[in-house]
Amino acid sequence: MSNEANPFESLQQQVQQAAAELDVDDDVIDRLSNPERVLDLNLSVELDDGTIGVFEAYRAQFNGDRGPYKGGIRYHPGVTRAEVKALSGWMVYKCAAVNVPYGGGKGGIKVDPSAYSDAELERLTRAYAKELRPLVGENRDIPAPDVNTGQREMNWFKDTYETLEGTTEPGVVTGKAIESGGSRGRVEATGRSVMLVVREAFEEFDWEMEDATVAVQGFGNAGSVAARLIDELGANVVAASDSRGGVYNPDGLDVSAAKAHKTETGALSGFDGATEEISNEELLTMDVDVLVPAALENAIDATLAEDVGAELIAEAANGPLTPEADEILAERDIYVIPDILANAGGVTVSYFEWVQNRQRFSWTEQRVNDELERYITEAFDSMISAYEDRDVTTLRTAMYVVALKRVMRAAEEGGIWP
Ligand code: NAD
Repeated sequence: MSNEANPFESLQQQVQQAAAELDVDDDVIDRLSNPERVLDLNLSVELDDGTIGVFEAYRAQFNGDRGPYKGGIRYHPGVTRAEVKALSGWMVYKCAAVNVPYGGGKGGIKVDPSAYSDAELERLTRAYAKELRPLVGENRDIPAPDVNTGQREMNWFKDTYETLEGTTEPGVVTGKAIESGGSRGRVEATGRSVMLVVREAFEEFDWEMEDATVAVQGFGNAGSVAARLIDELGANVVAASDSRGGVYNPDGLDVSAAKAHKTETGALSGFDGATEEISNEELLTMDVDVLVPAALENAIDATLAEDVGAELIAEAANGPLTPEADEILAERDIYVIPDILANAGGVTVSYFEWVQNRQRFSWTEQRVNDELERYITEAFDSMISAYEDRDVTTLRTAMYVVALKRVMRAAEEGGIWP
């Protein structure tokens, strides 16, 4: 994996490629490819041994023309300001791609959560929520989970905010536990949208799903659910990996058993349903029909892109391809379903969660899944129409054209104040 590529530059390049297809002034593009606000923090937290830990943290609010800023919070030692800015921009275009009424934001804390106790992580999350309190709220900025955060962190965040505000406002964050105002179907939503776009692409290209081979890099929330649901379509997940390496079985992995093994041991490695242990590089270049990168940014760089063996890539992760890799894959006629559509199930069901919170009314899981399917398939169809009508070279540019048009229209109609 290359860590050299700056994800913020990837984002700007993607927006500019879409802008080239539209009649857009440079000043508008400047405005729509830079964040409105980035908060830099150094959080001081008391550690269990009585010393003070200081943690670098960020929250970027990229664009709010279409609604409140929306986006996850990542806990990872590799978090940087540039990464958070890029992720917040991708949220703007993702929300516009699936047409949910949000802008984009993102947050991150530079921390390796595995090195800290639950009590320390709770104090860290509460310190972060305290600093963000003036900027967030169900009408302002609505955080959600991302890498290494989940329901637990969202519950702590919501509790801190509500305590300080002296109110109940479950819609201040999404991705909460059901008992704290979460939505049914939220945990599975990202993987579900990955499955839906793969299904739609197979239909569009008239490919046979039965026994199509699939490799999944990253076996966390997004990757493991995507693997299970694609497997349920009749495809064969032959390889999966996590940060410690991958497993392979040419006859197909039992995805649920692999997940149970990872939950029990902390890694896929050692899974007895595999015939071979493989490296992440081997997985990414494997000769399969579908590759699902579901780990972190820049997983596939130019060198790896030359060797990718898949016909279709569904980006479950945000920004898993460097811009150079994207170009090479386009030249090699490998279809890439972009992150801003493929993993948009997470934010779409976050939107449903927020709607339910505001109405104080819970939907059934069936309703959530049906509505999600409608949003994702409509967005997929709009991407295919733009791809055909505009004769653009990639599905990514087609999806960005659809999204950028929506953001531009909202920005123009809102104007500049004062
Ligand atoms: P997660 O923490 O649940 O899982 C991440 C997985 O990636 C883990 O299995 C980890 O071991 C693996 N991983 C990390 N580094 C790796 C490496 N170098 N090689 C192979 N595997 C590696 O995180 P997640 O929520 O599943 O998020 C994964 C990606 O999906 C991120 O890019 C995130 O931004 C994106 N995403 C997640 C959601 C969501 O709702 N969870 C929504 C949209 C996008």
